[in-house]
Amino acid sequence: MTARTATRDEFQSPSLPEQVAAVRARFAELYGSEPQWIAAAPGRVNLIGEHTDYNGGFVFPLAIERYTVVAAARPRTVAAGDAVRVHSALMGETAEFSLSDLQPLRRDWTSYVRGVFAGFIDRGAAPGRLDLLVDSKVPLGSGLSSSAALEVATATLLEGVAGRPLDPVEKARLSQQAEHVYAGMPCGIMDQFSSALGEQGKLLLIDCRSETAQLVPLEDDSVEVLIINSNIKHELTGTEYADRRRQCFESARLLGVETLRDVAAERLATKRSKLGPLLYRRAHHVVTENERTVEAAQALQAGDWRRVGELMYASHASLRDDFEVSCAELDVLVELAQQVGAEGGVIGARMTGGGFGGCIVALVHSGREREIAARIGEGYAARTGVAATPFVTRPARGAHLVKS
Ligand code: ADP
Ligand code: MG
Repeated sequence: MTARTATRDEFQSPSLPEQVAAVRARFAELYGSEPQWIAAAPGRVNLIGEHTDYNGGFVFPLAIERYTVVAAARPRTVAAGDAVRVHSALMGETAEFSLSDLQPLRRDWTSYVRGVFAGFIDRGAAPGRLDLLVDSKVPLGSGLSSSAALEVATATLLEGVAGRPLDPVEKARLSQQAEHVYAGMPCGIMDQFSSALGEQGKLLLIDCRSETAQLVPLEDDSVEVLIINSNIKHELTGTEYADRRRQCFESARLLGVETLRDVAAERLATKRSKLGPLLYRRAHHVVTENERTVEAAQALQAGDWRRVGELMYASHASLRDDFEVSCAELDVLVELAQQVGAEGGVIGARMTGGGFGGCIVALVHSGREREIAARIGEGYAARTGVAATPFVTRPARGAHLVKS
């Protein structure tokens, strides 16, 4: 047991200074020099507003105290060519790519990095040759946006390298573009926005149509954000996300609006026959989720925790029944949280992220978070045979340069 485990465990947030120190040491081992630039960008968790982002709607995420750190230096060797080397500590792998041929169609974990390099080159801010090291405390593929953390950390690093600070909104868009074109993932703006614009102690109510964010403080110290990773990722056909998007766009088209954002719940109720049962359920989720999200932000600001909790449970039910993106394991976790209930210190809980696995997010009363996580974890293991991973966070600071 090290001193670190005595003072901090996996349930709490890792220390960013400790992570940065480890990155410096590893960088020196790998490349034989000190990093000249270091940037950090957080993952995010979405409190409410799921599958609303690509429908021009509202989302209500917060940056989490888990960071991706990217460090860089100019290569020591004056070799010919224009290769960038990038090592991922998590993957235990070093990859190379050429600045003059960024290969948008090559799909691997460097896609996110190459896409961000492309964004800078397109803006006339060529970063030049670099050696890079990536280290992350954001769990991969769990709906906490390790991909956006990697993009936004890389973009923040390249702002320093190229001496070209970007407006944070533009940085988010550049990163989103990297994910669209290089990773082939047509995501909304939420993940990159949260990572780039997050502020300590604040959630972001993002209007995905106007791409503007309102910061909403989480002032109540008696409330904690508890994230529980189901440690399940169902590999379905792989087209679920694209299918849901298409169904939403098709519903909007049939309703004669640009996006489902433009439809109110009462109006949707009169259009049932026009959409048919499947599209109606999809649209019903999006339309009601939008309304829940705006209301949840108001209730949170008013400290109306009971209402926030109800809206979170309603969001989960809608994702499970109407949008059909939950899974048995996420349903079990939410059910167990609901069983602990207000009396046991749980305000509300729901699946978070794209679905089919990943995490649930719960709001809980401070001081009871370990006991709550233990109870849910025991029930989950008993029913699924899988060990869940819980941790707590407060809304974290967004992307920033640690060294430049
Ligand atoms: P999420 O964003 O929810 O974590 P995604 O599938 O969008 O899930 O992104 C996960 C992918 O991002 C990984 O499979 C990997 O390709 C890439 N990635 C994220 N962080 C790292 C990292 N530290 N090192 C290498 N690849 C990473
Ligand atoms: Mg992602």
